[in-house]
Amino acid sequence: MTLATGKVGIICCSGEDFAEGTISRVATRLVLEKLRPDQTVTLCLPLFLAGGEDERAFARVFPTIAVDGCSKKCAEAGTKKYSGKPVATILVSEVMKKYPHLKVKSREKLAPQEMELATKVAEEIAKEVDEILCRTAKK
Ligand code: SF4
Repeated sequence: MTLATGKVGIICCSGEDFAEGTISRVATRLVLEKLRPDQTVTLCLPLFLAGGEDERAFARVFPTIAVDGCSKKCAEAGTKKYSGKPVATILVSEVMKKYPHLKVKSREKLAPQEMELATKVAEEIAKEVDEILCRTAKK
């Protein structure tokens, strides 16, 4: 990760045990690579927790969004502990409630309806990015 201006940092949970963790990572990649590539950077949660000073410095200065698979909110908690509270947290388990027809099971390769859910989560992240940058520009 390199420090940059006018960006929002996305920190996603690294849950391997739950399909929701996989969805959080895929959704984050969709935002970084397709939806808002010029407005976002990702911060590596394991490196952040292990003491990565670049990651922690970014999150102290720039707005961040935590993307967590479940209510344990590991990404939000880690960011809050070592830098500052994320401006927003997107919870995959909450987004799923809006789309009960989209079931998730995979922890590796996503099925089409799991990819659809990841896209819905990515759209919510992108919306938050836009709102944060809009608020920041008005200050
Ligand atoms: S937020 Fe939930 S899914 Fe993500 S790492 Fe923590 S326990 Fe696992």
